[in-house]
Order: sequence, then C-alpha cells, then structure tokens
Amino acid sequence: MPSLETPIEKLLKAQIAATGPIPLTDYMAACLLHPDHGYYTTRDPLGRQGDFITAPEISQMFGELLGLCLAQVWVDQGAPTPFILAELGPGRGTLMADLLRATRAVPRFHAAAQIHLIEASPSLHAVQQKTLAVDSVTWAQNVGDLPNGLPLYLIANEFFDALPIRQFTRHNDGWCETIVGLANETLVKGYAAPTQNPDLAHRLDDTTPGDVVETRPDAAPIMARIGTQITAQGGAALIVDYGNWRSKGDTLQAMRGHAFANPFTAPGTADLTAHVDFEALAQAAVPARATGLTDQGALLARLGIGARAERLSRNLTGAALENHLTATQRLTRPEEMGSLFKALALYPPNRPAPPGFD
Ligand code: SAH
Repeated sequence: MPSLETPIEKLLKAQIAATGPIPLTDYMAACLLHPDHGYYTTRDPLGRQGDFITAPEISQMFGELLGLCLAQVWVDQGAPTPFILAELGPGRGTLMADLLRATRAVPRFHAAAQIHLIEASPSLHAVQQKTLAVDSVTWAQNVGDLPNGLPLYLIANEFFDALPIRQFTRHNDGWCETIVGLANETLVKGYAAPTQNPDLAHRLDDTTPGDVVETRPDAAPIMARIGTQITAQGGAALIVDYGNWRSKGDTLQAMRGHAFANPFTAPGTADLTAHVDFEALAQAAVPARATGLTDQGALLARLGIGARAERLSRNLTGAALENHLTATQRLTRPEEMGSLFKALALYPPNRPAPPGFD
C-alpha cells in the first residue's frame, strides 16, 4: 500500500533496492535524525500528547536533585570559575530549567556557569529556547563543539539510548550483523553473513551461539571527549538511562503513542531506542573514573527525594497531591522506573565520587 508509506520508508526502499540491505545502525540513524523526515528532527516526541515520557517530565524533583548533586560536586572541587554546564539531548529543556531553579541559591554557581546544550533536533531546539528563555544558553550539535579549556559538569538523561546501535548475533563461525532489507516491497530485518569482529572479542566469554549483543558506535567518541576533559580540567558527568552494565539480547524497541510498536513499520514515526551498555560508556571515558552502576530509585533516595517530595506535598491537595505522589513512586519504585533506569557518574581520578552513587 504505497499511499501509507512514510517518506523515510520510501527513501530507504529506493536505497536498498539500488545498493542492497543496510546495517541496522544506518536504518536507526535515518529514522531518528534524517534532516527532513527524522523522528526527532520533525517533532516534540515527549509528554502525554507524544510517544513517551521521561523522568524530568514526570516530576520537577528529578532535575532538582540531579542539579544539586552536580552543584555539590562543583563546590567540592573548589567552585572553579568559569565552568561549562552541559546537557546532552535536553528534550524540552525541563531538566535544565529544574536544575537551574534548584541551584539558584548555590553561591556563584549561576554566575560561573556557561550553559551548553547538545541537541540534534531543530524542533526540540526551538522548544528548549522557549523553556529556557531567561538564561543565556549556547546550542551545539556535537560534544566536540564544547570549549575544551574549562571544567565540564555534564548531565544526560535518556540520551544514549537514542543513539543508533549495531546488533550482532553470535554464530559458530563469527558474528552476523542485523541488517534491514526488502521482501515483497516491505522493509524486513535480516542478518548478514558471519564475520570476525575484534571489537567483540570480550563478548566471547559471556555469550554462546545464538546470543545477541549490541554496540553503539557514536557513544565512544562522545565519552572519550567527556572523560578527557573531566580528567584534565575537572568536572563530572551524570548519566541516567535504561540498560545495564553489559547488555545482552535484542533490546531494540519502538514506542508510538505510549505503546510498543514494530521498529520496522512506518519508519520515522516512532521513537527507536535500545538499552545502554554502561560498561562501554565507562571504558570509553578512561582516564576519568566511573562510579558503580546505581539504580535511579536508590540514587534519588540518597539525594533526598523523600524530604523534597514531602516538602512539595505540603502545598498540594486533591488531584495535584495524588499526581505528585504517583510521580514520586513512578521515579523511585523498583517495579516502575526505579531499577530499570540506572545512573553512572564520571569524575576526575584525584577527586571524590559525586554524592549518592554506588
Ligand atoms: N533528556 C530529555 C530528552 C530525552 S529524548 C528528557 O529526559 O526528557 C532524547 C534527546 O536526545 C532528544 O532531545 C533528541 O533530540 C536528542 N538526540 C538524539 N540523538 C541525538 C544526537 N545524535 N545528538 C544530539 N542530540 C540527540
């Protein structure tokens, strides 16, 4: 039914018909960030009207507590001035707005901060401009565009899960990469012939034939840059996402209208994500040190979400109070986001770890 084809589907079908199947990572990159038709490029996907909701959109407490954590690290490191306050993939700008409000009382923090947002989507850039209208902010598309001579205090929530993955299935004689091809005029998932892959040598110990592993090629250079700058200049990075220390299995998923969808139908109209492999992020950030992987629920509890939730509830009644209590539970309870989402912090080798982390 060509009339139902999305613009990306049309483009990818033409490309595959001309030159053959493409790796999953190219498919994901086109779906998410194609300059004219990509999912993030063309819309604001967040919130009730959108396709998914994130922790900062659930409650202001998320950005407040992570912001205060970052400001505490800045104070503990001697309050270096000036410094870069950066966020990767800021969505609607809600986390940064909550962070800035919560840290207003930290002496000299705002005066010393140069705020940089790394955002690939023009439509979300516009939303962030509205949210953060009062503060002077610099936007960039890449971490490489950040000024590199200053301490770097960085935050990223649900950023890495949106970077395209490569996916490999182990076979007796190598790894078969997941590809996207055409069958009966339809985009379908397939597998390339097995090849050797030196990058996956360390996965031969904990996998057997049939197991699926995923890598995220764009993450390593970003983490290398952050790790180098934090080590050389000072700073810290707080990274929150869903995933595990070392991911195993096919974790690619599509979300449309708050429900799971088939990642290979109507490309460009659903959010595509995959679990984050935190071990790979930590290793790419060496020589910066990494904390242990910490459950979001445990982190927020240690940063004081109990007291903050209680304080906010004093001014609320009725449905607003109900919503606040539900939101608090949603962020922290293990059966909700509390243990599916994890946090990792990076910090300089000669400094203490940020508060609240394992
Ligand atoms: N951190 C926000 C939004 C998460 S959605 C929140 O918690 O609500 C993912 C965000 O990352 C979006 O802002 C998206 O446009 C951005 N993004 C995705 N891929 C990117 C890339 N390669 N470079 C920069 N930003 C990217």
